[in-house]
Amino acid sequence: MISKLNNKELDQKIKSLARAENRLLALVIEHIKEADRRKLYLDFNYPNLYDYLVKECGYPGGSAQRRIDAARLLAIEPKLKAKIESGEINLSQTTLLQKAFREKSQTVTLEQKRSLIAKISDMTVNESQVLISKELNLEIRQQTKVTHQKDESIRLEFTLTKEQWESLQKAKDLASNATQTNDLGVLIKYLSDKFIKQKEGPTATVAVKKQVLQRDQCCQYKDHKTQRLCGSRWNLHIDHIKPKWVGGTDDIDNLRVLCQKHNYERYREQAGIKMVSSKIDDKIIGGRLIQADCTHT
Ligand SMILES: [Zn+2]
Repeated sequence: MISKLNNKELDQKIKSLARAENRLLALVIEHIKEADRRKLYLDFNYPNLYDYLVKECGYPGGSAQRRIDAARLLAIEPKLKAKIESGEINLSQTTLLQKAFREKSQTVTLEQKRSLIAKISDMTVNESQVLISKELNLEIRQQTKVTHQKDESIRLEFTLTKEQWESLQKAKDLASNATQTNDLGVLIKYLSDKFIKQKEGPTATVAVKKQVLQRDQCCQYKDHKTQRLCGSRWNLHIDHIKPKWVGGTDDIDNLRVLCQKHNYERYREQAGIKMVSSKIDDKIIGGRLIQADCTHT
């Protein structure tokens, strides 16, 4: 019974299982290498090894690809098997290597490949990445890439300086008790929420928000020219008519429902006003502009 083990026994058991897992992994890689050489997947009517591993052997896509990457490295460096068995090299590292080799397929030699496998032994994944990028002179990507995906999630690809990265890592460590994960998306949301709360103060209570929703039912934004009500019932938010930063309260009379689009539009409008007004006299200019804005609503 696992629950009967004392801490020392449990620690030893986990370590011995981890070693067994590495040995088994090395064996799996060795067999996949042979399957690749024989094109075993053709016997099962699959066009490639990846499809065979996913559909016939039940590996999730990422796991299948990592095993293929390792198997193809093993084909050019037999010493890799022992390194996987001993845990000196893991599948994250072999995948890094294969990715880099693919990028540099025109120039990288067999000798270079073998030498890199030796060099990254016992390194962390991050250390391996830096070393591989330096040795193969991989391109440094600066351009930010934003991809909107079909489930409305957003995929970001961007470059941080070493300093920015370290700062983010420190924040991650400090927030780890609250976030309970290494997921950067969760961390960014957590930090953003904290910052917004700090800037805007506590938000209206759930009960008040419910009342506002019941009263307004839909987006209360009126077009400045036509005075037509937006009326959207999609993605509703609670908006402060007089913003909190000029002393607006969480009073039900100061709240209204806006759709996401108009909430965001108003937020940007306010941010703009705030930027201009803070240069002159925050309260007076800000107050006047907001009053003028209120007449539209
Ligand atoms: Zn609206």
